[in-house]
Amino acid sequence: MAVVKANAYGHGLVATASTLTAADAFAVARIEEGVLLREAGITHPIVLLEGVFSGPQLAEAAHRDFELVVHDPSQVALLEAQGRGRRFIVWIKVDTGMNRLGFRPEEFPQALARLCSLPIPPREIRLMTHLARADERDCPMTAEQLARLQSLIDALPVHPAFAGPRGRPVLSIGNSAGLLGWPAARGDWVRPGLALYGVSPFPGELGTDLGLVPAMTLESSVIAMRQVPRGETVGYGGTWRAERNSTIAILAAGYGDGVPRHLRSGAPVLFPTGRGVLAGRVSMDMIAVDVTGLPGVRVGERAILWGATLPVEQVAEYAETIPYELICGVSQRVPLELR
Ligand SMILES: *Cc1c(COP(=O)(O)O)cnc(C)c1O
Repeated sequence: MAVVKANAYGHGLVATASTLTAADAFAVARIEEGVLLREAGITHPIVLLEGVFSGPQLAEAAHRDFELVVHDPSQVALLEAQGRGRRFIVWIKVDTGMNRLGFRPEEFPQALARLCSLPIPPREIRLMTHLARADERDCPMTAEQLARLQSLIDALPVHPAFAGPRGRPVLSIGNSAGLLGWPAARGDWVRPGLALYGVSPFPGELGTDLGLVPAMTLESSVIAMRQVPRGETVGYGGTWRAERNSTIAILAAGYGDGVPRHLRSGAPVLFPTGRGVLAGRVSMDMIAVDVTGLPGVRVGERAILWGATLPVEQVAEYAETIPYELICGVSQRVPLELR
């Protein structure tokens, strides 16, 4: 299932889902995201990764034919209170160690029993878990989580609501890091998000190292050029000081567009003729870039903040964050252009 939550990680929800027609299903975090997909005419199965939280949401999910993750007893209660309605595909979330969402193995039998005796029984019951440290290739925690899941499955009764082989439930385990790094974590359904967009979930590795193609390029253009004499500062707080007479290009991209405010001076910005570096604090609508000695930079010139030629994984390091936050953070005012 293609994970398209958070506006498809900043790539445009409907545009992305309309492009990923080969996906077997889409996964979203919020019911509103699923509704937008249905309203755009997407007929694929849609999984609500956090399920529903109220009676009206449950009714909407029934109306829109969403699959539900159930991770909390309150969600079982919502299904029990459902008078008439749809037979859902229900994914029971098992907490195998992430300690975020899901039933702990000792709570699982009761949740399963309640779901099996619903007035409107599920069309199918599947199992989902989430890995906490799959992006650490040498960490033993993933194997421990898989072992906990396996012992839970081994103890399950054969049940007609399970549609996997030998009366077992269909499983979904791995996100991008699980899928790429842990073959044992693939299960029946994988849930890649980041990797779909060509970005590496592993620290210190690039999407291209993994054979992926980065999908997003964030571009801006130069709206002013200036010469800054040695010793003067640039931008709010005067945090960057020219160590030489410097040529500064002002780009029309700031934290209002999703350029992180904590991007450090020195972060690379790519022009057609080479790299400039961020000079001073990111403003809401602009950044200043030191392009001293770089030929051909003038008003109207295009520049790349991240993309295929400037890996977002590397830019994220200059903001002390992960590439997820950069691509998800591209704001609504940035026009999307499909290429
Ligand atoms: C966001 C999310 C994913 C996708 O994670 P990536 O690291 O982007 O691949 C998978 N499963 C769940 C439950 C999620 O919330």
